[in-house]
Amino acid sequence: MRVMLITGANRGIGLECTRLFSADASWRIYASCREPQRALQLQSLARGCAADLRILALDITDSLSMQAAVGRLRDEAGRLDLLINNAGIFPKGTHQSQRLGALGAEALTQVIATNAVAPLLLTQACRELLQGGEEACVVMVSSGMGSLARAGGNAYGYRMSKAAMNMAMRVLAHDPAMDGVHSFAVHPGWVRTDMGGAAADISARESAQGLQALITNRKARDSGKFFRYDGMELEW
Ligand code: NAP
Repeated sequence: MRVMLITGANRGIGLECTRLFSADASWRIYASCREPQRALQLQSLARGCAADLRILALDITDSLSMQAAVGRLRDEAGRLDLLINNAGIFPKGTHQSQRLGALGAEALTQVIATNAVAPLLLTQACRELLQGGEEACVVMVSSGMGSLARAGGNAYGYRMSKAAMNMAMRVLAHDPAMDGVHSFAVHPGWVRTDMGGAAADISARESAQGLQALITNRKARDSGKFFRYDGMELEW
């Protein structure tokens, strides 16, 4: 049995990744979300899939919630082979994290806390479980908008948060304290989800298929790198 934890599994890319992995009976999947009782699609998936799919309550910005979730994983599974840090926020254009002239410290801090700090803290909390896994891997679901080389003139908070997430991933990939655990970052594409909107390029399924292929085919030398969902390596 291999064990994975994915955040933000109730909708969008997280739900589609969970759906794809859940077709494989060799996985036990901890599909986490903030409100399991409202995650109806996840509940119905859990009832009819091949994998052992367990829904886990987890708000990544809440330390008590994180402690409880990781505690359950430790008690039930005692190991982790794959952590997908997928949950994230993209505040709308008028939010005080996104536009010059409107920027505010609290709003900027909130985006960075959710998209960069929380995934790193969750990875830290899972460190021993990951080190007990087999060729364990941490996937940071980042964004092309976090690339310094491709920076555009909008969305300050979101871009800063994903650049910080990328750096966290790079440090994890080099940190001796994470020995034996690989990490990489992915840009899932511009995806038709609540976040990406209806005009986006690809479906959540296409994106999730790409992410699954990247995870399945990864090599040790891919650790510390940044890939697009279709396998292309991205510049920082
Ligand atoms: P989405 O449809 O908006 O879903 C976001 C998910 O994150 C939801 O499950 C949401 O849970 C969860 N979430 C947000 N804050 C959370 C918190 N504090 N604790 C736990 N869960 C939380 O977004 P998506 O398009 O699937 O995006 C998934 C990831 O891909 C994000 O990291 C995003 O930045 C990245 N990405 C997306 C695109 C795109 O075009 N869609 C492009 C580049 C990168 P609730 O339902 O409880 O809110």
